[in-house]
This record gives sequence, structure tokens and C-alpha cells, in this order.
Amino acid sequence: MKGIFRFSLVLMVAPLFCGTAFVIGYVILVALTIPQLPAWAQPAVTQWLLDIPQHAESSDNGAYGLNGSSSPAGLSAVQWDGYIGTETMIHGLPIIDRVQLWSVWYDKPLLGCLFHDPRYESHTGSDFPMNEGTPIHTTISGKVVWAAENGPWGNLVVVENDGYQIWLAHLSSIEVSEGDILEYGDEIGLSGNTGNSTGGHLHYGIKHKTEAGSYVWLDPQLFFNEDEYIYIGCSD
Ligand SMILES: [Zn+2]
Repeated sequence: MKGIFRFSLVLMVAPLFCGTAFVIGYVILVALTIPQLPAWAQPAVTQWLLDIPQHAESSDNGAYGLNGSSSPAGLSAVQWDGYIGTETMIHGLPIIDRVQLWSVWYDKPLLGCLFHDPRYESHTGSDFPMNEGTPIHTTISGKVVWAAENGPWGNLVVVENDGYQIWLAHLSSIEVSEGDILEYGDEIGLSGNTGNSTGGHLHYGIKHKTEAGSYVWLDPQLFFNEDEYIYIGCSD
């Protein structure tokens, strides 16, 4: 009787072990195979076999730094400078060139998660999925009031002019410094996947100071045209 019990126990547990061994074996095989593929094929195969990044944030990064958070990083760390220059209009997109996502090139920037996406409590900008290393440009002339790492925003550049700030987040590298005065369209850095980001993308936010001394986030889509992007949707 004891022998039968032991046998049936082994029979029940065996598939679990086989499953685990299969998964481990699969991951090892993938990890060994991908580096041997030609460079152009690697991103697509990685995406297909291992994971499908969301090209978005996994939570509302606008909430960080609120509620008296002791962290020096976050939303409240970026102050209003009060800079007012000429030519204050925000327009166009922070991506000028063609973009590449995985191994595919697109003629226009790809628009992913939108402002106030219902999946987040209050998504504070527009997400543009793209590979890391794409040049990012300012959509307003103005003063750089933040150009550094900032917690969930990753490497962040904020440009201000006349009560408006544009926020360009998750950069891989920053090419401007705090205090720089930029012309419209100047390159500020390269797109990346830093901070609270799942997959290479640019988070583009527009903040507007209200008369009450507070601020609101504006929908960036109000500042560019429908024919300037390809909408691919929010993938999570
Ligand atoms: Zn975002």
C-alpha cells in the first residue's frame, strides 16, 4: 500500500518538475541563441520569445513627490522658474525624425498610451514608444529648469516658458543643462527606458501654471496634429 502511495505521489509531482525544467531549459536556450543571431534580428526575436514590453509606465508617475513625500525626487522637486521668453507657443512633436521600434522603422512617431489613459489613475502625458537612442527635441523655446535623474521619471528634462513646462521623461541621455536657454526644436537628449518605464518610450507631458498658483496637466494631443503620428494604442 505504501509503495502505491509513493508511486502516485511521484506521478503527481513529476509534471511540476518537468514543467520547471522545461521553462529553465527554454530560457537558457533563448539566452544562448539570441546573441548568435545577426544584430538586426535580435530585438524582434527577443520580443517574440521572452517578453513584450509595454512601452509605458506601470503606474501614474504624476503622483510621485506629492503628499509631503520626503524624497527629493519626483514631481514637487521641479519648481517653477518664472522664465518668460519670446515665442512661447508649444507645437509639434518632440520627435522629428523617423523612429525605430524593435527592428522596424516607421515614417512617423508612434503614439501609445494617451493622456488620462483609464488604465492609470491619471496618466499625465502622452507615451511615444521607440527604441532607445532616438533624438528628442523641445517643442517650446525656453529655459531648462530640470535636467537630471528624477526618481520614477528617470532621466528628465523640463523646459519652461511663460507658465508652461514641457516634461520629457525616461531619457537614456541628457544633452542640456539646467539654466540653458533653448530655441524651438533644439535637441535635449536621447530617448530611453530609465525610471518607472517598461520598454523604451518617451513620456511627453505639458504642465500649465494656473492663476490660482496651482497647475494642471494639459493633453499634449491638443498641441499636435493627427497626421503627425501613427496611433498604435496602449499595450498593457
Ligand atoms: Zn507616460
